[in-house]
Amino acid sequence: MNISRRKFLDQTAVGLVGSAAFHVTSFAQAPSEAGGGQKPLIVSTWPFGKPANDVALKVLLRGGSILDAVEQGIWVVESDPDNRSVGLGGGPNAAGVVQLDACIMFGPGHRAGSVAALEGIRHPISAARRVMEKTTHVMLVGEGARMFALQEGLEAIAVDSRERYELWQRQKIGQRTNPPEKKKDNHDTIALLALGADGNLAGGCSTSGLGGKLPGRVGDSPILGSGLYVDNEVGAAGATGVGENVMRYCGSFLVVEYMRQGLHPQSACEATIQRIAKQDPKGLDLSINFVALDKQGRFGAAGTDKNFRFAATTSSSSGVLQPMLVDHLDAGAGAGRR
Ligand code: ASP
Repeated sequence: MNISRRKFLDQTAVGLVGSAAFHVTSFAQAPSEAGGGQKPLIVSTWPFGKPANDVALKVLLRGGSILDAVEQGIWVVESDPDNRSVGLGGGPNAAGVVQLDACIMFGPGHRAGSVAALEGIRHPISAARRVMEKTTHVMLVGEGARMFALQEGLEAIAVDSRERYELWQRQKIGQRTNPPEKKKDNHDTIALLALGADGNLAGGCSTSGLGGKLPGRVGDSPILGSGLYVDNEVGAAGATGVGENVMRYCGSFLVVEYMRQGLHPQSACEATIQRIAKQDPKGLDLSINFVALDKQGRFGAAGTDKNFRFAATTSSSSGVLQPMLVDHLDAGAGAGRR
C-alpha cells in the first residue's frame, strides 16, 4: 500500500470513530466503524437507496423479518415512476421493451431466488422472492418468469414501450451533450444489504439494466455472486455499474471472500476493484462499484464511477455517503485494512 493511501485509511479511521451521524457527504467522515456492532444495519447503492433503507429499517424495528425489510425497501425504488433505471419506469432495451432483473438472498440456509428479462411486473424483487420460497429452482427468465409471477398474483402493469423508448432516446441525446463521468449509458441498480438485530443477513438487487441493451441481455444484477452475494457467516455485497464488467469476475462473491479472509468491508470492495482492474485489459476504465457490510456491523463502499454514492442506515442515523473512488492501480492490492 502506498503512503498516500495508508494516510487516507488512517484519516478515515479517525473520522469514522469520531462521527456521530450520517449527515455527511464524504466517506472520510462516515461512521463506518460506528456501524460496527450496530444492528440492524442497512446499506444500499445510490442516493435512491436511502428511502429504501429507511423503509427497510422501519420493517425491522416493528419486528418484521429481514426478508420483508429487503423486499419492501426495494419496492420503494421499483415503484418510483421517476426512477429511470429500476422498475417499470426504467430504460427500455433496443426493441423498446423494459426488461427487469432482480435477485434476493437469505443468509440462513443460504437460500436464493432470481428473475431475469422479466416484463410488465411491478415488483421483480417479489418475483425473485417467490422463486426462492415457492419453487425448487433458483432462477426463472423471460416469459417463464412472467407467467410464474402472474400465477403468484403479482401485480402486472402494461408499459407504453414506445413512450419509454422515445424518452430514453431523448435522455441519451442529453447525455451526449453533457456526458456523465465514465458512464456509457443510462443504468443503475438498487442493491440493498441488511443485517438484522439477530445477526442474520439478507440482500436484494433490482434493475432495468443497461438502457438500449440487446433484447434478452442479462446483466450482473440477478446473477448470484455477481450483482449480489450473501454469506451468513461473513457478510454481504452488492454491485452497480456495467454488469458485463462485474459478472466476468463474480464481483460480489469476491468482495465477500475478501471479507472472509479478514478484510474490512471497505478494503474488500477496494481489493475487488483492484483485482478486476489488474486482470482486465481495460484496467480501471470500467464502471464497477460495490457496497458491502459484514457480520460485525461494519460497512464500506468503493467504485470507479466518480458519481457513485451509497446509503447507510442504522436505528440512529441514515444518510447518503461518498464512497472511496478507486482511480489508480495499487501495487499492494488486497492488503487492505482488517
Ligand atoms: N449492473 C446493472 C446492469 O448492468 C446496471 C447498473 O447497475 O448500473 O444491468
